[in-house]
Amino acid sequence: MSETGSRIAGFHSLSPEERLDAVTRRSGLGNEGKSHLIEAGSALVDLADHLSENVISTMNVPLGIATNLIVDGEEVLVPMATEESSVIAAVCNAAKQCRDTGGITATWTGPQMIAQVQILDMPDPEAAKQALLDRRDDIKASCDACDPMLLKLGGGFRDIEVRVLDTRIGPMVILHLIVDTRDAMGANAVNTMAEKLAPHVETWTGGKVKLRILSNLADRRVVTVQGVWRTETIGGEEVRDGMIAASAFADADPYRAATHNKGIMNGVSAVVLATGNDTRAIEAGAHAFASRSGRYTALSTWNKTPEGDLHGVMEIPMAVGIVGGATKVHPTAQASLKIMGVTTAERLAKVAAAVGLVQNFAAVKALATTGIQAGHMRLHAQNLAIAVGATGDEIEAVAGAIVARKEIREDAAREALEQIRSGAGG
Ligand code: NAD
Repeated sequence: MSETGSRIAGFHSLSPEERLDAVTRRSGLGNEGKSHLIEAGSALVDLADHLSENVISTMNVPLGIATNLIVDGEEVLVPMATEESSVIAAVCNAAKQCRDTGGITATWTGPQMIAQVQILDMPDPEAAKQALLDRRDDIKASCDACDPMLLKLGGGFRDIEVRVLDTRIGPMVILHLIVDTRDAMGANAVNTMAEKLAPHVETWTGGKVKLRILSNLADRRVVTVQGVWRTETIGGEEVRDGMIAASAFADADPYRAATHNKGIMNGVSAVVLATGNDTRAIEAGAHAFASRSGRYTALSTWNKTPEGDLHGVMEIPMAVGIVGGATKVHPTAQASLKIMGVTTAERLAKVAAAVGLVQNFAAVKALATTGIQAGHMRLHAQNLAIAVGATGDEIEAVAGAIVARKEIREDAAREALEQIRSGAGG
């Protein structure tokens, strides 16, 4: 067998250790890299091998705790999994500044997901649409029969929507199955329903069913979060008005809105990942929702209250679960739920959204005042120190030296490390 190239026959049937050996032989990983992957993955590699494919190790991301948050009057410690520096510190800081007004309050629409069924090649699309509307009860029966557990828990089929969509290849009929998925994210649950229904749909419409898959635009599973920060707490009217101006900028400009929303997702995705939920599903839903008016805009809005304080509000789709997917089987996900004291998908969705709003407060405040680099640079300097080989006490020493010199660059970090090691830098 060749020891180069990306074709490795039978790779999937090897054990994770054998796969890692094979990759080591064919790549520049080296023994040091291999040892690291063994060590990083050792605790969870068997679980990982079941969660994903061709597993050789695990990718560990820092898991930190955001403190100070109150959501709907209840204190909550929030585990956040993120590799980005300053994100967790920002939540702690921003959450502290709204404790005196009671923290964040949240409402939600309930846990309804949408599965889409695409129907092509009908003789009469409008007649096909009507045929599906007439079969609502049969559709409900078929969907509910798929998931007795969900039904028992009070979830299951809720409704249908049918549209004739004009596309560049002609008309197609799109059926939406609206399903209450309770404490599950629900992708597998609704996909199963859509697949099982497909043959009946073909019979009823005379068409051909193609795609059967949930929509990540979970606009029937939306959380609204809001909070008030006192003007005196955040540093005065100039800070407040700067933040409102930043919010208006993000409302009006998609270039700014993309970054504004990225900051929100720094918080949201870290909670989603810490709980074993699907970060891509949440990200896709958030950005699609941000475009629902036809123009991409900010997910959150900052304004002045009648009392002159700062009010932030955000609506965001939040398709997270506490059962299903990796949430139930990953011990870190389970530990995260326990740390939060979360026992329902509703509470998890509200906490994740609250973290998004609080994160957004921190970023917008920093941008509207000192800029974000001051806060970022200390941690970035530490990352640079590690990247050039500093260990132990050297990390702080190198970071301190390059911050003091305002030269937060890799070459400066290398030079500082050399000086420290030669005794010249202290
Ligand atoms: P799942 O099928 O593993 O679990 C859901 C099932 O658990 C329900 O159907 C129900 O039978 C049962 N259940 C037990 N207790 C429940 C409770 N309290 N509330 C609700 N259901 C309960 O998982 P899922 O949530 O249907 O799917 C989530 C997974 O699907 C994620 O891993 C996601 O990554 C993946 N996925 C996502 C997409 C996408 O987002 N486009 C597509 C396909 C798959």
